[in-house]
Amino acid sequence: MLKNYVVFIGILLCSQPVAAKWFKNSFKVMGTQAHLQFWLDDNSVDSQQKSHQLIAAVQAEMQRIDEAMSPYKATSELSLINTQAAQKPLVISAELFQLLQISEKISQLSQGAFDITYASIGYQYDYRQKQRPNKTAIKKALSAIDHSAVQLNEQKSTVFFSHKNVKIDLGGIAKGYAVKRCLAILKAAGIKHALVNAGGDTGLLGDRHGRPWYVGIKHPRAEDKMAVELPLINEAISTSGDYERYFIEDGVRYHHIINPQTGDSARKVVSVSIIGKDPTYVDALSTTIFVKGLAAGMKLIDSLPEFEAIIIDNEQTLHVSKGLRQQ
Ligand code: AMP
Ligand code: MG
Repeated sequence: MLKNYVVFIGILLCSQPVAAKWFKNSFKVMGTQAHLQFWLDDNSVDSQQKSHQLIAAVQAEMQRIDEAMSPYKATSELSLINTQAAQKPLVISAELFQLLQISEKISQLSQGAFDITYASIGYQYDYRQKQRPNKTAIKKALSAIDHSAVQLNEQKSTVFFSHKNVKIDLGGIAKGYAVKRCLAILKAAGIKHALVNAGGDTGLLGDRHGRPWYVGIKHPRAEDKMAVELPLINEAISTSGDYERYFIEDGVRYHHIINPQTGDSARKVVSVSIIGKDPTYVDALSTTIFVKGLAAGMKLIDSLPEFEAIIIDNEQTLHVSKGLRQQ
């Protein structure tokens, strides 16, 4: 009898995949912490080698995007655009051109709430040093916050700034794009279950091997606490919050999401999370809806069937979009 049990347990053990496993990695990039997690069906030497290659490929891709798009690196393509595009049309990479096109599309969709030329004033804020532009400086810079001043020529792949003081910054969209690219690398390598995260931007491939991924939305006013955790499969989620980079002066919170109309921080809500399939759009839309606020933001998201929103208002009440209410 006992022997039968032993045989039975033996069969059970043999039918399990040979030590299939999760591979995880964390690293710093794009001014934030990135996390990577993926599943390989076995733990053989080949798989271990594959995992090292994949981790290196994901890190390299994020670093490559940072090198091209960082406003803090003088040699980045973005910095070159900022120093040269007001003089004459500048030929740029297909990759950056495409991101500028998507940015323009979202500016139009949001009536200017998303606007990469926010940077024309944005560079005068330094949240670590608690520095901000005064009213006169803002007034002077406002005419250069205008997405229509970023002129794109698709045939020639050029960008031209029609206003000499325009600066652009892709901080509201680049991390989502990086997450998208890294998921594509993993997918092309045959990975079926993965999570890629960069700061507030997360992309998921498949499920968490038989169960959903649980992605938390940070509590906006209690560090290390979650406001809510969402079960998600094969989705992307991005959160924009006024607690990420900020300082408080005379009771007013100055933070990194700027209302392009005023040149001041947007203060209608405290946290916006967007859920959808495309990490690039989800990232840009979280920043967009943060600027638009609850009523106008929810209206816009409810008009876009591919996206859902979770908004936390100034009273810390949680609001969800139509699609989430129906579930
Ligand atoms: P996120 O955390 O995705 O909301 O991105 C915030 C970042 O977006 C900021 O650090 C800025 O780099 C950028 N940003 C701020 N305000 C805007 C805006 N109105 N439109 C586009 N990008 C913005
Ligand atoms: Mg965003």
